[in-house]
Amino acid sequence: MSPKRPTKTTKQRGYGAKHAALRKSWAPKVAMGNVICPRCGFAILPEAAWDLGHSDVDRSEWTGPEHARCNRRAGQRKGAAARRQGRPTDVERWRQIARDPRYQDDPSAKIFHGPPWSSWSSSEEPTMRWSQAWFPWRDELR
Ligand SMILES: [Zn+2]
Repeated sequence: MSPKRPTKTTKQRGYGAKHAALRKSWAPKVAMGNVICPRCGFAILPEAAWDLGHSDVDRSEWTGPEHARCNRRAGQRKGAAARRQGRPTDVERWRQIARDPRYQDDPSAKIFHGPPWSSWSSSEEPTMRWSQAWFPWRDELR
């Protein structure tokens, strides 16, 4: 029997590398002031802080560079709307799922659960089952 290597770090690196590559590919365009922030409709000035944004509807769908300020504000607005309507915010919902015994990872059986973002509305199950850790989304909640 060979000792099991933790798959988490590899995947973590993979996710980070993909994100970094995307940022790098956008950086020259942002530096030229040619990118419009989809949140506010204004150009992202070369010196402005920017984030890679995700769609509010499907978190796995990436929308492009946005002002860091606009990105954060959108998240706050979404959380505030959820609280007003008595719904759990995304982070609260993620925490519930992360603690739920039904959705615990079992690395020895190669059972992992993906982040619960995109399957909420379309499926009974709040997470997708994976054969390997995708990225350590549980760690982000702690
Ligand atoms: Zn903006």
